[in-house]
Amino acid sequence: MALLVQKFGGTSVADPDRIREVADHVLRCRRRGDDVVLVVSAMGKETDELLRLASEVSDVRPGREMDMLITAGERKAVALMSMALAAVGIEAESYTGSQAGFVTDTNHTNAKILEVRAERVKEAIEAGRVPVVAGSQGMSTARDVTFLGRGGSDTTAVALASALGADACELYTDVSGVFTTDPRVVSTARKMHRISFDEMLEMTAAGCPKPAMRSVEYAHRQRVPLHVRSAFTWEPGTWVTEEDPDMEQAVIRAVVADLSEAKVTVTGVPDRPGIAANLFRRLADADVNVDMIVQNVAEGGITDISFTVPHADLDRALEICEAKRAEIGATSVEADHEIGKVSVIGAGMKSNPGVAATMFETLADNGINIEMISTSAIRISCVIAEDQTDRAVQVLHDVFELDKTEF
Ligand code: ADP
Ligand code: ASP
Ligand code: MG
Repeated sequence: MALLVQKFGGTSVADPDRIREVADHVLRCRRRGDDVVLVVSAMGKETDELLRLASEVSDVRPGREMDMLITAGERKAVALMSMALAAVGIEAESYTGSQAGFVTDTNHTNAKILEVRAERVKEAIEAGRVPVVAGSQGMSTARDVTFLGRGGSDTTAVALASALGADACELYTDVSGVFTTDPRVVSTARKMHRISFDEMLEMTAAGCPKPAMRSVEYAHRQRVPLHVRSAFTWEPGTWVTEEDPDMEQAVIRAVVADLSEAKVTVTGVPDRPGIAANLFRRLADADVNVDMIVQNVAEGGITDISFTVPHADLDRALEICEAKRAEIGATSVEADHEIGKVSVIGAGMKSNPGVAATMFETLADNGINIEMISTSAIRISCVIAEDQTDRAVQVLHDVFELDKTEF
Protein backbone atom coordinates (compact mmCIF):
# COMPACT_ATOMS: atom_id res chain seq x y z
CA MET A 1 0.00 0.00 0.00
CA ALA A 2 1.39 3.36 -1.04
CA LEU A 3 0.55 7.02 -0.61
CA LEU A 4 0.50 8.61 -4.05
CA VAL A 5 0.14 12.26 -5.03
CA GLN A 6 -1.34 12.24 -8.53
CA LYS A 7 -1.36 15.44 -10.58
CA PHE A 8 -3.47 15.86 -13.71
CA GLY A 9 -2.60 18.52 -16.34
CA GLY A 10 -5.07 20.57 -18.38
CA THR A 11 -5.58 18.11 -21.26
CA SER A 12 -6.02 15.24 -18.80
CA VAL A 13 -9.13 16.94 -17.32
CA ALA A 14 -10.20 18.89 -20.42
CA ASP A 15 -13.85 17.72 -20.50
CA PRO A 16 -16.43 15.73 -18.49
CA ASP A 17 -15.38 12.40 -20.06
CA ARG A 18 -11.74 12.98 -19.13
CA ILE A 19 -12.72 13.94 -15.58
CA ARG A 20 -14.77 10.73 -15.26
CA GLU A 21 -11.82 8.68 -16.57
CA VAL A 22 -9.57 10.17 -13.90
CA ALA A 23 -12.19 9.27 -11.27
CA ASP A 24 -12.22 5.66 -12.56
CA HIS A 25 -8.44 5.58 -12.34
CA VAL A 26 -8.52 6.77 -8.72
CA LEU A 27 -11.06 4.02 -8.00
CA ARG A 28 -8.69 1.40 -9.45
CA CYS A 29 -5.79 2.73 -7.34
CA ARG A 30 -7.89 2.67 -4.18
CA ARG A 31 -9.07 -0.88 -4.88
CA ARG A 32 -5.40 -1.84 -5.14
CA GLY A 33 -5.04 -0.45 -1.62
CA ASP A 34 -3.26 2.84 -2.34
CA ASP A 35 -4.11 6.17 -0.74
CA VAL A 36 -4.47 8.93 -3.32
CA VAL A 37 -4.22 12.72 -3.14
CA LEU A 38 -5.15 14.55 -6.33
CA VAL A 39 -3.74 17.83 -7.63
CA VAL A 40 -5.64 19.22 -10.60
CA SER A 41 -4.88 21.91 -13.23
CA ALA A 42 -7.46 24.13 -14.90
CA MET A 43 -9.46 22.33 -17.61
CA GLY A 44 -8.00 22.38 -21.14
CA LYS A 45 -6.91 25.84 -22.21
CA GLU A 46 -8.82 27.63 -19.48
CA THR A 47 -5.78 29.45 -18.04
CA ASP A 48 -5.00 30.94 -21.48
CA GLU A 49 -8.66 31.90 -21.85
CA LEU A 50 -8.69 33.72 -18.50
CA LEU A 51 -5.48 35.56 -19.43
CA ARG A 52 -7.04 36.58 -22.75
CA LEU A 53 -10.18 37.83 -21.01
CA ALA A 54 -8.11 40.00 -18.69
CA SER A 55 -6.23 41.56 -21.59
CA GLU A 56 -9.54 42.35 -23.32
CA VAL A 57 -10.98 44.04 -20.24
CA SER A 58 -8.08 46.25 -19.29
CA ASP A 59 -4.48 47.33 -19.86
CA VAL A 60 -4.20 47.65 -16.10
CA ARG A 61 -3.81 44.17 -14.67
CA PRO A 62 -2.71 44.26 -11.03
CA GLY A 63 -1.04 41.02 -9.93
CA ARG A 64 -3.44 40.58 -7.04
CA GLU A 65 -6.48 40.65 -9.32
CA MET A 66 -4.79 38.49 -11.98
CA ASP A 67 -4.15 35.81 -9.37
CA MET A 68 -7.73 35.94 -8.14
CA LEU A 69 -8.84 35.47 -11.75
CA ILE A 70 -6.43 32.73 -12.87
CA THR A 71 -6.80 30.56 -9.78
CA ALA A 72 -10.53 30.33 -10.53
CA GLY A 73 -9.66 27.84 -13.31
CA GLU A 74 -8.20 25.28 -10.92
CA ARG A 75 -10.95 25.92 -8.38
CA LYS A 76 -13.62 24.97 -10.92
CA ALA A 77 -11.67 21.82 -11.86
CA VAL A 78 -11.31 20.51 -8.27
CA ALA A 79 -15.01 20.90 -7.52
CA LEU A 80 -15.97 18.98 -10.68
CA MET A 81 -13.34 16.30 -9.98
CA SER A 82 -14.68 15.78 -6.45
CA MET A 83 -18.20 15.34 -7.83
CA ALA A 84 -16.95 12.78 -10.38
CA LEU A 85 -15.27 10.87 -7.53
CA ALA A 86 -18.49 10.94 -5.51
CA ALA A 87 -20.27 9.47 -8.53
CA VAL A 88 -18.03 6.37 -8.41
CA GLY A 89 -18.52 6.05 -4.67
CA ILE A 90 -15.37 7.75 -3.44
CA GLU A 91 -15.65 10.27 -0.67
CA ALA A 92 -13.67 13.28 -1.89
CA GLU A 93 -13.12 16.83 -0.75
CA SER A 94 -11.89 19.76 -2.84
CA TYR A 95 -9.46 22.32 -1.45
CA THR A 96 -8.18 25.64 -2.76
CA GLY A 97 -4.43 26.14 -2.38
CA SER A 98 -5.08 28.20 0.71
CA GLN A 99 -7.29 25.54 2.31
CA ALA A 100 -4.66 22.91 1.55
CA GLY A 101 -2.13 24.94 3.55
CA PHE A 102 0.02 26.48 0.81
CA VAL A 103 1.66 29.60 2.23
CA THR A 104 3.51 31.67 -0.39
CA ASP A 105 5.44 34.91 -0.72
CA THR A 106 3.64 38.02 -2.04
CA ASN A 107 5.12 37.86 -5.55
CA HIS A 108 1.82 37.84 -7.48
CA THR A 109 1.52 35.87 -10.76
CA ASN A 110 4.69 33.92 -9.91
CA ALA A 111 4.59 33.28 -6.15
CA LYS A 112 7.00 30.94 -4.37
CA ILE A 113 5.89 28.36 -1.80
CA LEU A 114 7.23 29.19 1.68
CA GLU A 115 5.54 26.42 3.61
CA VAL A 116 2.94 23.66 3.22
CA ARG A 117 0.77 23.19 6.32
CA ALA A 118 -0.69 19.89 5.23
CA GLU A 119 -2.60 18.94 8.42
CA ARG A 120 -6.01 19.26 6.83
CA VAL A 121 -5.04 17.14 3.85
CA LYS A 122 -3.49 14.55 6.20
CA GLU A 123 -6.67 14.38 8.28
CA ALA A 124 -8.74 13.82 5.14
CA ILE A 125 -6.46 10.92 4.08
CA GLU A 126 -6.66 9.39 7.55
CA ALA A 127 -10.44 9.62 7.41
CA GLY A 128 -10.39 7.66 4.14
CA ARG A 129 -11.27 10.58 1.89
CA VAL A 130 -9.50 11.67 -1.31
CA PRO A 131 -8.30 15.28 -1.03
CA VAL A 132 -8.51 17.11 -4.38
CA VAL A 133 -6.19 20.11 -4.30
CA ALA A 134 -6.25 23.05 -6.72
CA GLY A 135 -2.86 23.32 -8.43
CA SER A 136 -0.54 26.30 -8.75
CA GLN A 137 -2.00 28.41 -5.96
CA GLY A 138 -1.75 29.41 -2.31
CA MET A 139 -2.26 32.23 0.13
CA SER A 140 0.44 34.84 0.63
CA THR A 141 1.87 36.05 3.92
CA ALA A 142 -0.32 39.13 3.28
CA ARG A 143 -3.35 36.78 3.11
CA ASP A 144 -4.03 37.29 -0.57
CA VAL A 145 -4.69 34.57 -3.11
CA THR A 146 -1.54 33.85 -5.15
CA PHE A 147 -0.77 31.97 -8.38
CA LEU A 148 2.47 29.97 -8.62
CA GLY A 149 2.98 30.72 -12.34
CA ARG A 150 2.48 28.72 -15.54
CA GLY A 151 3.02 25.02 -14.99
CA GLY A 152 2.82 25.60 -11.22
CA SER A 153 0.54 22.61 -10.61
CA ASP A 154 3.54 20.30 -11.02
CA THR A 155 5.19 22.23 -8.17
CA THR A 156 2.04 22.00 -6.03
CA ALA A 157 2.08 18.23 -6.46
CA VAL A 158 5.76 17.86 -5.59
CA ALA A 159 5.48 20.15 -2.55
CA LEU A 160 2.48 18.22 -1.29
CA ALA A 161 4.20 14.87 -1.87
CA SER A 162 7.16 16.16 0.13
CA ALA A 163 5.00 17.53 2.98
CA LEU A 164 3.04 14.26 3.19
CA GLY A 165 6.08 12.01 2.81
CA ALA A 166 4.32 10.36 -0.15
CA ASP A 167 5.87 7.31 -1.81
CA ALA A 168 5.78 8.99 -5.22
CA CYS A 169 4.56 12.04 -7.06
CA GLU A 170 2.88 11.01 -10.31
CA LEU A 171 2.53 13.70 -12.99
CA TYR A 172 -0.14 12.53 -15.43
CA THR A 173 -0.07 14.24 -18.82
CA ASP A 174 -0.94 13.85 -22.51
CA VAL A 175 2.25 11.95 -23.48
CA SER A 176 3.41 8.70 -21.88
CA GLY A 177 6.56 10.06 -20.21
CA VAL A 178 9.69 12.07 -20.84
CA PHE A 179 10.95 11.42 -24.37
CA THR A 180 14.33 11.78 -26.10
CA THR A 181 12.74 14.80 -27.79
CA ASP A 182 9.22 16.20 -28.18
CA PRO A 183 7.25 13.23 -29.59
CA ARG A 184 4.92 15.68 -31.34
CA VAL A 185 7.85 16.98 -33.41
CA VAL A 186 9.89 13.80 -34.00
CA SER A 187 7.86 10.63 -34.50
CA THR A 188 10.84 8.38 -33.69
CA ALA A 189 11.35 9.95 -30.23
CA ARG A 190 11.66 7.27 -27.54
CA LYS A 191 10.29 7.23 -24.06
CA MET A 192 12.94 7.04 -21.34
CA HIS A 193 12.20 4.66 -18.49
CA ARG A 194 14.45 6.60 -16.17
CA ILE A 195 16.32 9.91 -16.13
CA SER A 196 18.51 11.55 -13.47
CA PHE A 197 17.50 14.82 -11.80
CA ASP A 198 20.61 16.52 -13.23
CA GLU A 199 19.73 15.63 -16.80
CA MET A 200 16.04 16.43 -16.28
CA LEU A 201 16.95 19.85 -14.85
CA GLU A 202 19.14 20.62 -17.87
CA MET A 203 16.31 19.52 -20.18
CA THR A 204 13.77 21.80 -18.50
CA ALA A 205 16.25 24.70 -18.36
CA ALA A 206 16.81 24.18 -22.10
CA GLY A 207 13.05 24.50 -22.75
CA CYS A 208 11.44 21.06 -22.23
CA PRO A 209 7.99 21.92 -20.80
CA LYS A 210 7.48 18.69 -18.88
CA PRO A 211 7.86 18.51 -15.88
CA ALA A 212 7.83 22.24 -15.03
CA MET A 213 11.36 23.34 -14.04
CA ARG A 214 10.53 24.55 -10.55
CA SER A 215 8.89 21.22 -9.73
CA VAL A 216 12.02 19.32 -10.76
CA GLU A 217 14.20 21.60 -8.61
CA TYR A 218 11.85 21.11 -5.65
CA ALA A 219 11.71 17.33 -6.12
CA HIS A 220 15.51 17.16 -6.37
CA ARG A 221 15.97 19.22 -3.18
CA GLN A 222 13.38 17.26 -1.21
CA ARG A 223 14.22 13.87 -2.77
CA VAL A 224 10.70 13.24 -4.05
CA PRO A 225 10.64 10.46 -6.68
CA LEU A 226 8.82 11.79 -9.77
CA HIS A 227 6.93 9.62 -12.21
CA VAL A 228 5.82 11.32 -15.46
CA ARG A 229 3.11 9.24 -17.13
CA SER A 230 0.06 9.12 -19.36
CA ALA A 231 -3.49 10.00 -18.31
CA PHE A 232 -4.71 8.42 -21.55
CA THR A 233 -3.08 4.96 -21.66
CA TRP A 234 -2.19 4.69 -17.95
CA GLU A 235 1.00 2.75 -18.87
CA PRO A 236 4.14 3.18 -16.70
CA GLY A 237 6.09 6.30 -17.71
CA THR A 238 9.43 7.88 -16.83
CA TRP A 239 10.97 7.93 -13.36
CA VAL A 240 13.06 10.98 -12.49
CA THR A 241 15.42 9.90 -9.71
CA GLU A 242 18.92 10.35 -8.31
CA GLU A 243 21.68 9.21 -10.64
CA ASP A 244 22.56 5.56 -10.29
CA PRO A 245 26.39 5.46 -10.09
CA ASP A 246 26.49 1.94 -11.49
CA MET A 247 24.65 2.87 -14.64
CA GLU A 248 26.55 3.46 -17.87
CA GLN A 249 25.88 7.06 -18.83
CA ALA A 250 24.54 7.71 -22.30
CA VAL A 251 26.57 10.33 -24.14
CA ILE A 252 23.42 12.13 -25.32
CA ARG A 253 19.97 11.43 -23.92
CA ALA A 254 17.80 14.20 -25.30
CA VAL A 255 17.43 17.02 -27.80
CA VAL A 256 15.38 20.00 -26.67
CA ALA A 257 14.05 22.98 -28.65
CA ASP A 258 13.00 26.34 -27.24
CA LEU A 259 11.14 28.94 -29.27
CA SER A 260 10.31 31.19 -26.33
CA GLU A 261 13.27 33.57 -26.64
CA ALA A 262 14.32 36.55 -28.75
CA LYS A 263 17.80 37.91 -29.42
CA VAL A 264 19.01 41.44 -28.70
CA THR A 265 22.23 42.80 -30.24
CA VAL A 266 23.93 46.04 -29.25
CA THR A 267 26.48 47.00 -31.93
CA GLY A 268 29.40 49.40 -31.81
CA VAL A 269 29.90 49.08 -28.04
CA PRO A 270 33.12 50.72 -26.72
CA ASP A 271 35.35 47.94 -25.38
CA ARG A 272 36.17 49.09 -21.85
CA PRO A 273 35.75 47.65 -18.39
CA GLY A 274 32.38 48.07 -16.72
CA ILE A 275 30.12 48.44 -19.77
CA ALA A 276 28.79 44.87 -19.80
CA ALA A 277 28.61 44.86 -15.99
CA ASN A 278 26.47 47.99 -15.96
CA LEU A 279 24.19 46.88 -18.80
CA PHE A 280 23.48 43.45 -17.29
CA ARG A 281 23.01 44.93 -13.80
CA ARG A 282 20.30 47.20 -15.19
CA LEU A 283 18.65 44.30 -16.99
CA ALA A 284 18.73 42.25 -13.78
CA ASP A 285 17.27 45.10 -11.73
CA ALA A 286 14.38 45.26 -14.22
CA ASP A 287 13.81 41.48 -13.78
CA VAL A 288 14.83 40.72 -17.36
CA ASN A 289 15.73 37.05 -17.48
CA VAL A 290 18.88 36.91 -19.65
CA ASP A 291 19.83 33.46 -20.95
CA MET A 292 22.71 33.24 -23.46
CA ILE A 293 25.29 36.02 -23.88
CA VAL A 294 27.93 36.45 -26.59
CA GLN A 295 30.46 39.27 -26.86
CA ASN A 296 32.53 39.46 -30.03
CA VAL A 297 36.28 39.98 -30.10
CA ALA A 298 36.88 43.74 -30.12
CA GLU A 299 38.23 45.38 -33.26
CA GLY A 300 39.52 48.93 -33.04
CA GLY A 301 38.23 49.28 -29.48
CA ILE A 302 34.63 48.50 -30.57
CA THR A 303 32.64 45.30 -30.07
CA ASP A 304 29.09 43.82 -30.31
CA ILE A 305 27.14 42.20 -27.48
CA SER A 306 24.23 39.79 -28.16
CA PHE A 307 21.99 38.07 -25.63
CA THR A 308 18.70 36.18 -25.51
CA VAL A 309 15.64 36.92 -23.34
CA PRO A 310 12.11 35.46 -23.12
CA HIS A 311 9.75 37.17 -25.62
CA ALA A 312 7.81 38.53 -22.66
CA ASP A 313 10.88 40.47 -21.42
CA LEU A 314 11.94 41.80 -24.83
CA ASP A 315 10.33 45.26 -24.71
CA ARG A 316 11.85 45.98 -21.30
CA ALA A 317 15.27 44.76 -22.49
CA LEU A 318 15.14 46.95 -25.60
CA GLU A 319 14.21 50.04 -23.58
CA ILE A 320 17.17 49.50 -21.24
CA CYS A 321 19.60 48.82 -24.12
CA GLU A 322 18.44 51.93 -25.98
CA ALA A 323 19.05 54.10 -22.91
CA LYS A 324 22.48 52.50 -22.45
CA ARG A 325 23.28 52.94 -26.17
CA ALA A 326 22.61 56.68 -26.01
CA GLU A 327 24.68 56.99 -22.84
CA ILE A 328 27.82 55.22 -24.12
CA GLY A 329 27.54 56.15 -27.80
CA ALA A 330 27.01 52.60 -29.13
CA THR A 331 25.84 52.31 -32.74
CA SER A 332 22.53 50.42 -32.65
CA VAL A 333 20.18 48.12 -30.75
CA GLU A 334 18.61 45.35 -32.82
CA ALA A 335 16.04 42.67 -31.96
CA ASP A 336 15.54 39.30 -33.66
CA HIS A 337 12.24 37.63 -32.75
CA GLU A 338 12.70 34.67 -35.04
CA ILE A 339 15.28 32.56 -33.27
CA GLY A 340 15.19 29.02 -31.94
CA LYS A 341 17.48 27.40 -29.39
CA VAL A 342 18.38 23.77 -29.83
CA SER A 343 20.19 21.84 -27.08
CA VAL A 344 21.65 18.37 -26.66
CA ILE A 345 21.81 16.98 -23.13
CA GLY A 346 23.59 13.99 -21.61
CA ALA A 347 25.69 13.31 -18.52
CA GLY A 348 27.98 11.08 -20.60
CA MET A 349 29.35 14.05 -22.57
CA LYS A 350 31.54 14.83 -19.54
CA SER A 351 33.73 11.85 -20.41
CA ASN A 352 33.21 11.73 -24.19
CA PRO A 353 34.95 14.37 -26.28
CA GLY A 354 33.60 15.30 -29.70
CA VAL A 355 29.93 15.93 -28.91
CA ALA A 356 30.18 19.63 -29.75
CA ALA A 357 32.03 18.88 -32.99
CA THR A 358 29.37 16.35 -34.04
CA MET A 359 26.59 18.79 -33.20
CA PHE A 360 28.16 21.69 -35.16
CA GLU A 361 29.06 19.47 -38.16
CA THR A 362 25.53 18.08 -38.32
CA LEU A 363 23.98 21.55 -38.28
CA ALA A 364 26.48 22.74 -40.92
CA ASP A 365 25.85 19.70 -43.17
CA ASN A 366 22.18 20.64 -43.10
CA GLY A 367 22.82 24.29 -43.99
CA ILE A 368 21.83 25.51 -40.52
CA ASN A 369 23.82 28.54 -39.37
CA ILE A 370 24.77 28.81 -35.68
CA GLU A 371 24.31 32.31 -34.25
CA MET A 372 25.24 31.71 -30.61
CA ILE A 373 26.63 28.83 -28.55
CA SER A 374 26.55 28.10 -24.82
CA THR A 375 27.48 25.03 -22.81
CA SER A 376 27.29 23.48 -19.35
CA ALA A 377 29.01 20.29 -18.21
CA ILE A 378 26.18 18.18 -19.64
CA ARG A 379 24.51 20.46 -22.24
CA ILE A 380 25.39 22.24 -25.50
CA SER A 381 22.95 24.84 -26.86
CA CYS A 382 22.96 26.68 -30.20
CA VAL A 383 20.81 29.60 -31.30
CA ILE A 384 19.66 29.20 -34.91
CA ALA A 385 16.88 30.57 -37.16
CA GLU A 386 13.41 29.78 -35.82
CA ASP A 387 12.18 28.18 -39.05
CA GLN A 388 15.08 25.67 -38.99
CA THR A 389 14.47 24.49 -35.44
CA ASP A 390 12.28 21.44 -36.15
CA ARG A 391 14.76 20.24 -38.77
CA ALA A 392 17.70 20.79 -36.41
CA VAL A 393 15.97 18.73 -33.71
CA GLN A 394 15.31 15.93 -36.20
CA VAL A 395 18.87 15.73 -37.59
CA LEU A 396 20.47 15.90 -34.13
CA HIS A 397 18.09 13.21 -32.85
CA ASP A 398 19.18 11.06 -35.82
CA VAL A 399 22.93 11.68 -35.59
CA PHE A 400 23.07 10.80 -31.89
CA GLU A 401 20.94 7.72 -32.67
CA LEU A 402 18.39 8.52 -30.00
CA ASP A 403 15.76 6.63 -32.00
CA LYS A 404 17.78 3.43 -31.49
CA THR A 405 18.84 3.75 -27.89
CA GLU A 406 17.18 1.90 -25.06
CA PHE A 407 17.01 4.07 -21.94
P1 ADP B 1 0.51 19.27 -18.66
O1 ADP B 1 -0.44 20.35 -19.12
O2 ADP B 1 -0.09 17.91 -18.59
O3 ADP B 1 1.18 19.67 -17.40
P2 ADP B 1 2.30 20.20 -20.72
O4 ADP B 1 1.35 20.49 -21.86
O5 ADP B 1 2.80 21.36 -19.94
O6 ADP B 1 1.65 19.12 -19.76
O7 ADP B 1 3.54 19.36 -21.28
C1 ADP B 1 3.32 18.17 -22.02
C2 ADP B 1 3.80 18.37 -23.44
O8 ADP B 1 5.21 18.53 -23.44
C3 ADP B 1 3.56 17.20 -24.36
O9 ADP B 1 2.31 17.26 -24.99
C4 ADP B 1 4.73 17.26 -25.35
O10 ADP B 1 4.32 17.68 -26.64
C5 ADP B 1 5.67 18.31 -24.77
N1 ADP B 1 7.07 17.89 -24.75
C6 ADP B 1 8.11 18.60 -25.27
N2 ADP B 1 9.26 17.94 -25.14
C7 ADP B 1 8.98 16.76 -24.52
C8 ADP B 1 9.77 15.64 -24.12
N3 ADP B 1 11.09 15.59 -24.33
N4 ADP B 1 9.15 14.62 -23.50
C9 ADP B 1 7.81 14.65 -23.27
N5 ADP B 1 7.01 15.68 -23.63
C10 ADP B 1 7.58 16.73 -24.25
N1 ASP C 1 -3.25 25.93 -15.29
C1 ASP C 1 -1.96 26.55 -15.06
C2 ASP C 1 -1.18 26.71 -16.35
O1 ASP C 1 -1.66 26.35 -17.40
C3 ASP C 1 -1.15 25.83 -14.04
C4 ASP C 1 -0.76 24.43 -14.45
O2 ASP C 1 -1.44 23.78 -15.22
O3 ASP C 1 0.26 23.96 -13.98
O4 ASP C 1 -0.07 27.20 -16.34
MG1 MG D 1 1.10 22.41 -18.16
